[in-house]
Amino acid sequence: MQVNLPPDTTSENGLSGPHLAQMFDTHPNHGEVIEIADGIWWVRIELSGVPSHVNVYILRGSTGWILVDTGNNTPDSREAIERVFQSPTFCNAPLQYVIVTHFHPEHIGLAGVLCGPKTKLICTRSCWATTKLLCIPSAGDRRPEQVEFMKLAGLAGIDLEAFFRSGNRKFREVVAPLPDSFFNIGQGDILKIGGRKWAVEIGHGHAADHVTLWSDDQFLISGDQILPGISSNLSVPPSEPDSDTVAQWIDSCVRLGALSSPETKCLPGHNMPFTGVARRCEQLKENHIKAIDRLLNHLTIPRKAVDCLQAVYRRDLAPNERGTLIAETVGYLNHLRNRGCVQRQLVNNAYIWSRISSAADDPINTNASFEAKKVFCI
Ligand SMILES: [Zn+2]
Repeated sequence: MQVNLPPDTTSENGLSGPHLAQMFDTHPNHGEVIEIADGIWWVRIELSGVPSHVNVYILRGSTGWILVDTGNNTPDSREAIERVFQSPTFCNAPLQYVIVTHFHPEHIGLAGVLCGPKTKLICTRSCWATTKLLCIPSAGDRRPEQVEFMKLAGLAGIDLEAFFRSGNRKFREVVAPLPDSFFNIGQGDILKIGGRKWAVEIGHGHAADHVTLWSDDQFLISGDQILPGISSNLSVPPSEPDSDTVAQWIDSCVRLGALSSPETKCLPGHNMPFTGVARRCEQLKENHIKAIDRLLNHLTIPRKAVDCLQAVYRRDLAPNERGTLIAETVGYLNHLRNRGCVQRQLVNNAYIWSRISSAADDPINTNASFEAKKVFCI
């Protein structure tokens, strides 16, 4: 969830240039599998809406299966996953662990259904806690800080009323409540799964503490942190309204791109597996920087965030994506403010943003603090 089509300026499948190559000509059909390598399978689950599908992966552990990401908690996705695990390849061993890359619905939706006494959940604490929070019944209504966030961005009148009425119920409709205990993983941890060691590298900017998994034989399960063809949304969460999701994203693109090699085989959360991770990380950084440059030029005249969407995205926006894109535009504005390029002034309960004529162009990156290393043998 929460991926934008533009401003990605690469080719149709996002694999332009000599350093990028798609690993397969076709993808599995809904609820079917393709064996990527010994002990790694790719399952594709079709979704209604945007994004149109999600990729999940099955890993062979020493005594059972490990599922990475799950699909939504909908009858279609549930039936697809059940069918896979009842098939001849997988029916003779139990599903022992579900690893979730991040808390967005199509990645975590079924975890609460699949996990139980014999199937344990593995994710970051941020992922678990955020999902728990969004699944409590009172979270169905817009919280005061969400409404305040949109007011400050310039939403008003019937648009603000519509935002208030739309609520947060969609999340709970497609995400099952999580178990009350889980295995917490973080930066630098190692998962020993079957014959492989997978290193946990945490990405930032798209979702709180996003897990990526790097195997010792050059496979990378990247979730939405590194995607071909689409740019992950960098929405600012209303709970952290001044956060610089762009700096977090750029920092992750640089760090993860440098970890990769030409042989790294990226298994993404959406679209097709590919090689060329370093180049793709550069593109993912550049796509957002181009959008930010357009925004900066637009702010020679002072404006509210809501009045910048057309300049940033340059396309017709569907009503149901406006909230997400406003939150991402606030991320761009926060980044420009941290760079000393724009300033904001509170006028009638909304921020008016304007370019500072002497603005410097040096980007600022944040440094995340990481937890102690752990090793899990599963
Ligand atoms: Zn996703």
